[in-house]
Amino acid sequence: MARPSAFRPGLNPTTAIHALVGNTPLLQISYTIGGVPGRVFAKYEAMNMTGSTKDRMAAYILRHAYERRELTAAATIVEASSGNTGISFAAIGRALGHPVRIFMPDWMSEERKKLIAGFGADIVLVSKEEGGFVGSVELAERFARDHDHVFLPRQFDNECNIAAHELGTGPEIDRQLTMFGRAPDAFVAGVGTGGTVMGVGRFLRRVHPGTRVHPLEPANSPTLRTGHKVGKHRIQGISDEFIPSIVHLDELDDVVDVWDGDAILMAQKLCRDIGLAVGISSGANFLGAVRIAEQLGPEATVVTVFPDSNKKYLSTDLCQTEPVHDEYSTPRIELEAFKAVR
Ligand code: PMP
Repeated sequence: MARPSAFRPGLNPTTAIHALVGNTPLLQISYTIGGVPGRVFAKYEAMNMTGSTKDRMAAYILRHAYERRELTAAATIVEASSGNTGISFAAIGRALGHPVRIFMPDWMSEERKKLIAGFGADIVLVSKEEGGFVGSVELAERFARDHDHVFLPRQFDNECNIAAHELGTGPEIDRQLTMFGRAPDAFVAGVGTGGTVMGVGRFLRRVHPGTRVHPLEPANSPTLRTGHKVGKHRIQGISDEFIPSIVHLDELDDVVDVWDGDAILMAQKLCRDIGLAVGISSGANFLGAVRIAEQLGPEATVVTVFPDSNKKYLSTDLCQTEPVHDEYSTPRIELEAFKAVR
């Protein structure tokens, strides 16, 4: 049931959670690769309300929807999500008094399912036979057609997803780089909905024309380069079987690809060697940033994001021994230290 107490006339209810979303630290991480020193910068998104970057998108979409009166106190928030978005809408929706229903593929980690259920949301698990990610989106749309008072955030198609990063993450990165005495040369981010890479990319390019903006995807499932799903991968949160409508590849530089096993090894190394307990996509993003930094030279300022922490992957291969392959970069990388600014 909705809790109307979250609503005060004239006050956007999302102001109650503003202090818990965004304004995350920026890390400068120094390393060597093959003995050659380098550094990259990463937004530490685990410090958001529910521990992932998706809180930014969820909070912004809800704020915008209240302002336009598209979202009312009684509405059920219904979204298709591979996990973090579901957790964000379940928590923030709950904080604002909304019932929440999440459609998600049934092969996502147990931690994600339990976290969403813990916020009191209804979870509908969608099997591969029922269509997986694409099926989840279709089922959410059908639910909205069949029921009254449903709000669909539509994260894969909603321009507010981009705006959350264009108005939030991007300006934060620019301000925090200044604290390190730097300006961006490149931004790299794994593409789930693409909100991060499109939004941060647009802001940084407006303020610093010429900034390179690279989308990243798993080498074992090159959706961006093929236009459709071609393989399986373990980097939860990115490469969801199709190219979202808010992703405009013609605005972006080359796609960077990272093996999922390499991403797992890198995330493990960030945790074990310098105490940064990050998720698998963070390992992938770090490797992507290191690759672009190698291309641009030792003084380049390459920025990425660490979308979440390792907590949702305790039952996954992130916490198992991962075999090493010749093409991986992680074994050549030694992490040294990090500095952080807020
Ligand atoms: N990593 C993780 C762990 C995520 O949950 C997401 C969001 N799907 C991403 C990366 C990609 O972010 P975006 O949706 O903004 O492309």
